[in-house]
Order: sequence, then C-alpha cells, then structure tokens
Amino acid sequence: MDMSWTRLRTTVFIAAVGWCWAAISLTAEPRPEWSRPVKPFRVAPGIYYVGTKGLSAYLIGSGRGAILLEGTTAENATLIERNIEVVGVPLKRVRLIVSDHAHYDHVGGIARIKRDTGAAFDASAGDAPALRSGMPRGDTEYEPTGFPPVEIDHVIHDGETVSVGDVSLTAHLTPGHTPGCTSWSTTVRDAGRSLHVLFLCSLTVVGNVLVGNRAYPTIATDYERTFAKLSTMQADIVLTSHPEMADVLEREARVRAGDANAFIDPAALQAIVATWKAHFEHELVRARRMVGVGDMH
Ligand SMILES: [Zn+2]
Repeated sequence: MDMSWTRLRTTVFIAAVGWCWAAISLTAEPRPEWSRPVKPFRVAPGIYYVGTKGLSAYLIGSGRGAILLEGTTAENATLIERNIEVVGVPLKRVRLIVSDHAHYDHVGGIARIKRDTGAAFDASAGDAPALRSGMPRGDTEYEPTGFPPVEIDHVIHDGETVSVGDVSLTAHLTPGHTPGCTSWSTTVRDAGRSLHVLFLCSLTVVGNVLVGNRAYPTIATDYERTFAKLSTMQADIVLTSHPEMADVLEREARVRAGDANAFIDPAALQAIVATWKAHFEHELVRARRMVGVGDMH
C-alpha cells in the first residue's frame, strides 16, 4: 500500500466521519465525556449503570454477588470502582467481569478492576488475542490504541451462560465491529413481568477496513451474519457500551421525570439494528468502490 493510497483512504474516512451518520459518530478518538462522572443509577431490578457520561459500564447482581460488564478506559478504573460501591456492592463481591468488545474504551479498565476485585474475566475466542496482547486485531483506518492486557480465565462460546449466584448472562457472538464482539442477554423480573434485557455489542463500522482486511479477512460476512442474527432477536430493554447508541442517559432522565418504564422499549433493538445495518451497507459499497479505484493504479 503506497502513501497516496493511505492518504486517500484517510481523507475519505474523515469525510465519512464528518458526514456523521444519524448524528452519531463513534470514532477512535477519546472524548471528554468518556471520563466525565455521572451518578450511578438503576436501570432495572438488579441492573445498575456504573459508567461515565460517555462510556457505559453495567453492574448486574447485588451485594451477594455481581457481574461487571465493561471496564471503560484504564483512566476510569477508580471511578468505575467507586460507582460499584455507591450502588451498594463491595468490590470483592464482583465475581465476574465480561465486556462487549476488545477496544480500549471498553476494556481499558478491566485489568485494574480485575486485580482490585479478584473477579474472573471471561471473553470470546475472537477477542482473546486482542485482550491478551492489549492491542485490537483487524485493519483500521486509524492508528489503533492499546490498553492494559487482561488475563482470560475462561473462553466463552456462542450461547453459553455464565452465572454468579442467581444472576446469569448468556453470550451471543455478534462479530464484525471486532472479531469477538459479544452481546449478552439476561432476564429480570419487574413488577410481576419478565423482561428480556440485551447488552448489544457495538455495530458501528467507523474506521474498520471492510474490504481487503488482512488481519480480519471475514469482517464483512461477519457483519452480515450478525445483522441477520440480531434481526431474529427480541429484547424489552437494550443497553449499549456507548450510551448514546441506545439513548441510555436520556431514558434515565425520563425515569427521573416520572416515566418509570422509560427503559422498556421492545422496538428499540430492531431500530438500532436497521440504522447500523444501513450504515454498514453504505460503507461496504464505498469500500468496494475504493478498492476498484485502487486497482487502476
Ligand atoms: Zn469499539
């Protein structure tokens, strides 16, 4: 790959980000809100938001035992730990940590939180090399950012359920954004009804090379399979690792304003999937066109 080709790709990438799909651009650059504290809050029975204004972390369970989903950045580790204690769970009661995907803004804090809690860390085979090395896998149009490597205690498989006490999460492999991108589901009882909760892995393309990705050759078909798989799934509550992707903080504001059911939205999953599927298809067409242009040189 020569320099002019690299520059062309970078320019088009910046133009695409500037174009800003649906007013949401999830870039690789850290943003101030990623480390801005917010008061932890309850999403549903036994599910708490313990992240920051710009990066989600969820605690599932109680003082008897809990699972932490996401570590956010390495810089945020102390903040996340404080939030866990604020919702009434001593750090040592966090027995298991999982994440949706191995990018520094979601797993950067995990090595430290794992050490401080003594929790086990489970992850998918697809993201295991990235987690163990502290460097994401797959060709990107930006310079990848590393993170503190994490030791994996158990490699999880598609459909596998992990439990801590009476809390359990089921893994749904939804690769594309990363090779091991994992969505997690659980069921909670709320006022006599059962609610299906899905912690949806990121579906964005931004910066991922879709055609000719040497480190992740199956990336485009993985995205396609993931969108097909998600189109058959149902959730009453959708939660994402970038809170804006599922309006998490806006919904919490609605709860505070008196709408007790603001997180319950059975239409949300398919709306999110449709948005990012359209984005992916647009980006795939663009990537194929660019490869065609490149071949003429
Ligand atoms: Zn990511």
